[in-house]
Formats: sequence, structure tokens, C-alpha cells
Amino acid sequence: MRQWKQFKIKLTTQTPFRIGGVKPAIETTVESPVVRLGDKIVVQGTSLKGAYRAELERYFIDTFFDKTNKKWREQWLKPCIPADEKTISPDERKLVNKGFYKYSCKYPQREKDYPSSERYICPVCYLLGAQGLIGFIHVPFLNLTKGNAEPLAFIRKDRIAGVSARGALAKFEGIPSGSVFEGIMNVLIQDDVTGWSLGQKRDLADSLGDKWLETNEWNKDRIETELIINRLQSIKHLGGYISKGFGLIDIKVEQSK
Ligand SMILES: [Zn+2]
Repeated sequence: MRQWKQFKIKLTTQTPFRIGGVKPAIETTVESPVVRLGDKIVVQGTSLKGAYRAELERYFIDTFFDKTNKKWREQWLKPCIPADEKTISPDERKLVNKGFYKYSCKYPQREKDYPSSERYICPVCYLLGAQGLIGFIHVPFLNLTKGNAEPLAFIRKDRIAGVSARGALAKFEGIPSGSVFEGIMNVLIQDDVTGWSLGQKRDLADSLGDKWLETNEWNKDRIETELIINRLQSIKHLGGYISKGFGLIDIKVEQSK
């Protein structure tokens, strides 16, 4: 038996909003459409998940990293960066060296590959999954339920893409301010077969596992409020052209039933 809890996500756009999709094969005047699934305009799960993951990482760093003494108040809350020694970029390496992040929680975490201070699954990967290990939260696609895609003909191409103006109007699609996207997020609460239970340390081989849950600081209710509802509601930007004033959003999360 698996027990799930559902959270209703409602995203309202506060400015024009745009996540770019693929130009359809059929003849169209739109050069750069918004993302669709079939004929539905959506926010794809990977976009929302990326923004949620970034929000969680920042929350742990801002709340539990002592910037004066450059130390974690609780070392097992240090999030990971999705890279290892071989794939890390110079900018990411700086963040690791400053102590904000550890290398990615790829699972399994064999003793020979990880120092013991890094052989744990970080709280972000506990919730959203790591390479080789699923998490408790399935971030959904959101469907557009109010508003529609409109051509952004009022913005000149040079302001969008930085290319020559020549009076050409952009054939970009966007979603106007005040539009609404909605979806249902499933969170695993309990699985009788694997023995997983939200807020409890899992029985994982080849890893020190969910070390952050060994203290009594965290439980299911605190995770639901502080790490699920409040963190999703703290996401303020999503999509493209944020530096041009796009992508300001408001998210409300409600527990269904
Ligand atoms: Zn991680």
C-alpha cells in the first residue's frame, strides 16, 4: 500500500510570462511559441521542479549556514550541487569551496568514492530525488486554466533577443499578466513495501542516508509546511526574459481533501 497526499498548486502570472517551446512543424507565423503538451499550454514539470529545487537550496543556505563563522549549524542540511569533481563548472566549484554546497548525491554512494562528510543524501534530494534514487515529491505539469497565448508583437525584436531592430516585430508568444496555471502535486506519505515514510530516515544501502532526519528536529508536518507549502509559495520568478520584466509569478498551495 502506498499513501499519497495531494497539494493543489495555483500559479498566477503577475507580468507577461514565457517558457519557450518548440516551433511546430505546421506552417505558422509564430516563430517562437510557448511550451505546449499536445494542444494544452503548460508549465512543464522540469521547469517548476528546477525553480523549487533552487528555492530549497537557498532556503537551507540562508537559514542554516552561519555566514560569519562559515559553518553549517547542522552539517547534514548542506544541499548538493548537481555536479561531481569531473563535471563541475568554475562557478559551481566556488560555491562548493565556500562551503555552501557539496557534490551531487548520486546514489549509491560507495565508501571509496565519497568522503564520510559527504556520503549522505541532502534534504533537497530526499524530497525531489537524486540520480539513482527517487524522492517523495512528484512535481507536476501545470495547465493553463485562465488566459491564453498571445503574440508579443508589442515588443520589438531587439529588446527580446538583442538582434537588429529594423522595425521588425517579434513573432514571439507569451502569456499575459493575470493568467492562471493549475496542477496537482502528489507527495508520498507512506509506502508499506519499501518502508519509506515522509519525515523518517530511509533504510538505504551504500550510503549514510538521510542523516538530517536522525535528530528530532524534523517531522512530516514541519516538512509539509516549511519545505513544501512555504517554499513553493516563495518562488517569485519562472520562465524566460526575467531581466526584461517577464516571469514574475505568485504561487498558492493548498492541501486537497
Ligand atoms: Zn543532494
